[in-house]
Amino acid sequence: MSGIYLAAFFTTLAAVAIFGSLIYKLQLPANHQLLSLAALLVVPLQPLAFYWIRIPLDHWLVGQLSSSSITYQWLTSLYAPLTEEPMKLVPLLLPMIRADIRPANFARYALAIGLGFAIGEMWFVAGRVAQMKAMEGLPFYQFGGYAVERLMTCIFHSAFISVALWQWRRRFLWGIAGAMTLHWLGNLPLQLMAQNAGGLGRTFWMVIVQLWLFGYCLAAASLLAYFAFGQFALGRLLFGRSRCPGCNQGYDAPLFGLNFGPSRYERCPGCRKWHWIHKHDRD
Ligand SMILES: [Zn+2]
Repeated sequence: MSGIYLAAFFTTLAAVAIFGSLIYKLQLPANHQLLSLAALLVVPLQPLAFYWIRIPLDHWLVGQLSSSSITYQWLTSLYAPLTEEPMKLVPLLLPMIRADIRPANFARYALAIGLGFAIGEMWFVAGRVAQMKAMEGLPFYQFGGYAVERLMTCIFHSAFISVALWQWRRRFLWGIAGAMTLHWLGNLPLQLMAQNAGGLGRTFWMVIVQLWLFGYCLAAASLLAYFAFGQFALGRLLFGRSRCPGCNQGYDAPLFGLNFGPSRYERCPGCRKWHWIHKHDRD
């Protein structure tokens, strides 16, 4: 067996161990069977989207534009966001799953769907790597970069779909558009590297891509934590409790505020006004 397939196997195990146990332990009320079903349903959808939608679309587009044109290259950057984000919504076709997704648990569904989708993509990518002559005969432990990248993708896919599910039963189309935009932005430096934008060279763009993916992954994980634990729990963890100088109500510091050293400009959930919170206003 090709080393990359063994790497895909171990990466799948790691993803299930890390994210599967997190999803299982999360104290957000959801039907466990439906949650597992949602994750399983999306496993084959990334490869299917690629072969059934993306390749035919690409053939058509190449017929319209020259494949070396800048317009074509920018349009190809839309493929993944436009095809993959709707695919992750396929579980919502089931009325039981639709009914079970609600503000109290959408983050858990986002993690489950992101995990299933990312696992399908792991094997899709492994299949493409296995066809590369340069990768032939490499043992599985030479694919550490693949494993790290694929585990990060679990976080990315979950974070993107979380934005769509967050707006479920609200402005859902805006939520989907948000998910697609975040997906596109995540891939943007890769696109710029492929085009060698600004003639800055491959080394420059490789460093930028690494930094960008690392920062983006942290932001994606923070967004998921925010959706899963609520902004106040996370805010309390980072900034503690505040007492409002206006209405004197004590509250968990919100995640979003302006930090200036020991002082912070934040919104009181009691009177809904923004205040400066100084050290002596902390509980
Ligand atoms: Zn207040």
